Amino acid sequence: MIEDALSELKQIVGSTWCSTSVADLYDYSFDSSIHGSRPDVVVRPKTTEEVQKIVLLANEKKIPIISRGAGTAMCGHTVPIKGGIILDLTRMDEIEEVRVEDLYCRVQPGVIYDALNKVLGKKGFWFPTSPGSAEICTIGGMVATNASGMRAIKYGATRDHVLGMEIVMPTGEIMRTGTKTLKNASGYQIDRLMVGSEGTLGVITDITLKLTMKPQKVAMVLAAFDNVYDAGKCVANIISKPLIPSSIEIMDDVCIKAINKCKKTGFPDVEALVNVEVDGYPCTVEQEMKVVDEICRKSGASTVESSDDKATMAKWTEGRKSILPSLSRYGDEFVSVALADDMAVPISKVPDAVVRFHEISKETGTIFGTYGHSADGNLHTKLLVNPTSEGSWKAAEETVGRIYKAVLELGGTVTGEHGVAITKAPYMMEERKDSLETMRKIKRALDPNNIMNPGKIFDWEQGSVIKYLRYPVRDK
Ligand SMILES: Cc1cc2nc3c(=O)[nH]c(=O)nc-3n(C[C@H](O)[C@H](O)[C@H](O)COP(=O)(O)OP(=O)(O)OC[C@H]3O[C@@H](n4cnc5c(N)ncnc54)[C@H](O)[C@@H]3O)c2cc1C
Repeated sequence: MIEDALSELKQIVGSTWCSTSVADLYDYSFDSSIHGSRPDVVVRPKTTEEVQKIVLLANEKKIPIISRGAGTAMCGHTVPIKGGIILDLTRMDEIEEVRVEDLYCRVQPGVIYDALNKVLGKKGFWFPTSPGSAEICTIGGMVATNASGMRAIKYGATRDHVLGMEIVMPTGEIMRTGTKTLKNASGYQIDRLMVGSEGTLGVITDITLKLTMKPQKVAMVLAAFDNVYDAGKCVANIISKPLIPSSIEIMDDVCIKAINKCKKTGFPDVEALVNVEVDGYPCTVEQEMKVVDEICRKSGASTVESSDDKATMAKWTEGRKSILPSLSRYGDEFVSVALADDMAVPISKVPDAVVRFHEISKETGTIFGTYGHSADGNLHTKLLVNPTSEGSWKAAEETVGRIYKAVLELGGTVTGEHGVAITKAPYMMEERKDSLETMRKIKRALDPNNIMNPGKIFDWEQGSVIKYLRYPVRDK
């Protein structure tokens, strides 16, 4: 089937941008998840018209298409488990319009988050979502996963900034949805449906984003706690004051030890750290810093440091951002993997959640770090696994089941920001039982030949997610 399409694909994009080389098929067989599976061909279009021709061809020949930005998704979103075409959209990287007087910008999907903010920053604006992958992830990937990040508590998730978009639908039509206006009550909000659709409902080829004013000043508080419950309680105490900071990051002792070992950040060796960021006008920041300091102390912090020094704040942020790779060096035979990595609970439940996670770690004998954008209740647990051992994967999956059960009991969701794809599929199906059939009906109506990123989310084949592993499991 793919052989019939190859010469046409080469004609559409030019042979330089259509590859079946072993190296490309290997490179594009995984993203930042635990999964891997090879595509049949990698195609790199430059225009919406090229995307449309590719989609029409794939739909006619019933070939799967997996849209791909930077491949930083953590749940197997871009892993082609049914083979087919990887549609790499990173050549579509133009910032087409920046209209500060109308508070919007228009970009192609392959624009990188930090690159967009560099341009917006010169005009006093930004797209504030702040994912941890800011240096490399694309706006198309962020829209398709409804990405968010450390500043969602104050600035919202990607969905709160999308005004409109252009989409090549699975049957090849080009649809424009949304507006360039800040308000829009004009019919179904189809752009909202496309946000978080994970490449299953069409290829996003153009995005209109709302602009947000950049804060004039930023400052941080770093509070150390001798018990993780107090650290969690401190988060809820700040929010309920009320005080809405731009972020509150929490990290436990496993993360602190890993960071200090790898990055020599010199974080206090305690059971948990809370790093609060406030931003805004200088006088507001100064006032809020005092309030945050006081709440941290009253919540039981053993030490509280404040800083508006750029180098100090960058060191704290860099330490926090290095958790993922640092955890892989926690113990010799382990790597940190994205399994139960991205839950969210109501903010007041953060203390219960972190304590429960620690209990689960003890009960199962599994090591994992707990950290996250706790201001909005978003917590990550990165499990340490021996990736060549089947027993280690099974133990990890058993732990994941317990973590998600606890999260759902606390009224939370199994994914706050990373999305579903493969790794979260069975757990999301449990959480969203009532809406699965509606999701399937929408998918079948818009993608009758099921070519767009098949086998993911509600179409996962069921059962264990320890499948299509990118790691060689030797020890059965
Ligand atoms: C170190 C690290 C930190 C991270 N931190 C965060 C974080 O703080 N918050 C967060 O939300 N996520 C985070 N992530 C996850 C990931 O970076 C985000 O989901 C990001 O938005 C994905 O962007 P991408 O360009 O890499 O998309 P990809 O990984 O290439 O694709 C993601 C999904 O979007 C679809 N897609 C991509 N482009 C299009 C398009 N144009 N049209 C239709 N579908 C498309 C793909 O099919 C796939 O399903 C992190 C990942 C890493 C590795």
